[in-house]
Order: sequence, then structure tokens, then C-alpha cells
Amino acid sequence: MTALTLSHVYKSFGKVEVLKDISLDVDVGEFVVFVGPSGCGKSTLLRVIAGLEDATSGEIRIAGDVVNRTPPAKRGIAMVFQSYALYPHLTVRDNMALALKQERQPKDVIADRVAEAARMLNLGDYLDRRPAELSGGQRQRVAIGRAIVRQPKLFLFDEPLSNLDAALRMNTRIEIANLHKTLGATMIYVTHDQTEAMTLADKIVVLRDGRIEQVGSPMDLYNNPANQFVAGFLGAPS
Ligand code: ADP
Ligand code: MG
Repeated sequence: MTALTLSHVYKSFGKVEVLKDISLDVDVGEFVVFVGPSGCGKSTLLRVIAGLEDATSGEIRIAGDVVNRTPPAKRGIAMVFQSYALYPHLTVRDNMALALKQERQPKDVIADRVAEAARMLNLGDYLDRRPAELSGGQRQRVAIGRAIVRQPKLFLFDEPLSNLDAALRMNTRIEIANLHKTLGATMIYVTHDQTEAMTLADKIVVLRDGRIEQVGSPMDLYNNPANQFVAGFLGAPS
């Protein structure tokens, strides 16, 4: 089954065309990584999928349904940002519970899902703390927990590790890979880090200047880059 289908998606800001004819299929359970240089449109593409920006034209389907006119909260997606975007005045528990409270989920459902996410992310001892009392890595795990509790059909990650130091980046990357296995969820992950792309992806989408340059498995792209640009990005010797 297809988790996400993009058909000829374009996005302009004023006269500037930022996404150009993006077509892509993502299978259920797949881990897809978008790579490309700064400014090539990676975040815009995620925001269009999430519904935080409207596509100028083209069609977006999630689990078969056209969602172009569906508001973000109803798309069955959850997004994790580089900046965490936690509420400083709320505890870890309340940060994770907030979206579920807004959905008016029953209290026991909320408590169960928060406890389960905290267990998966080793945050059990931190539930009563506020974000200022956590390390950067712990804050990013809370942001991931906030996504997990919503049980989304599709996870979107926008450079989630780029504010972490090298050691934490590796640990958190491994946690995200484990989470993908445990949850069997579909994940789309933006990075400009080759190692993250090569180690996490089932499928890599290389973007350049708002267009898809090449799509393939890490080994496909490494061994058979379509051009010098892709080769340069994925570190294959030329
Ligand atoms: P990336 O995430 O790959 O670094 P972005 O998607 O953030 O790239 O940006 C792609 C291009 O779109 C950039 O040229 C950026 O300046 C432009 N852009 C992004 N958001 C807006 C916006 N809200 N208004 C105008 N231009 C934007
Ligand atoms: Mg970006």
C-alpha cells in the first residue's frame, strides 16, 4: 500500500518557484530520506506534505486520500523539527499529552500513550521536568515522543539532529532507526548529512533547486549516481 503519493507538486512563493514537478511514491513502512543542499526546498516539501503550506498545483495523497484541502491536524501526520518547539512552561508529560488533550482523547488513553512513548525513548524518569531542565538530546526525544503519542500514519522529520553534538547525533540516529523498526511506521526524514541518509534510508530522494534529481536505495545512488551532483552528495568516488 502507498502511504504517500505526490503527483506533479509545484509550490511558488510569489514569483519564486520553490518546488517544481515533484512526483513520488512512498510505501507504507518505508523510511525515505530527502537530501539536498541548503535552500533546495526540503523543508518546503515537508511543509506542503504536512499541510503547513498549500501546494500551488499538483496532488497530495496520504493513504490513498487526496489531502490538498485537509487541514494539518486531520492529515494523520506528525512532524519533528530541528528546533524541538517544546512548550517551556509545560512538563515533559504535558508537552507529550498536549495534542491528545486537544483531540479530546480519554484521560487513560493519554496516560497510556505517554507512558509507552516515555518507555520507548527512555524518558520515564523525566516526565515531571520542564524543557529547561533537560539536555538537548532529551529535548529532542520529547519532541519525538510528542509525535509518537499521536500514532500518526506518517512521521515527518526536518533535520532533527542538526542541533546535537556528534556523539548525541549518532545515538539519536540509532534510536530513530530502532523506533522505525518497532513502530513499523512510515517516515520521511530531511537531512543534509550523508551518513544519516546512507544509514537510515530505505530510499533516498536527492533534491536540487526544487526538483527531484534522482530516487533510489542508498546502494543504487552510491553505485549508480545519475550525475556528478548526486555522486558529490552521496560521497561516491568519482
Ligand atoms: P531547505 O529546507 O532545503 O534548506 P527551504 O524549503 O527552506 O529549503 O527553502 C527553499 C527556498 O524557498 C529558499 O530559497 C527559501 O528562501 C524559499 N522559501 C521558503 N519558505 C519561504 C516563504 N515562506 N516565503 C518565501 N520564500 C520562502
Ligand atoms: Mg530546511
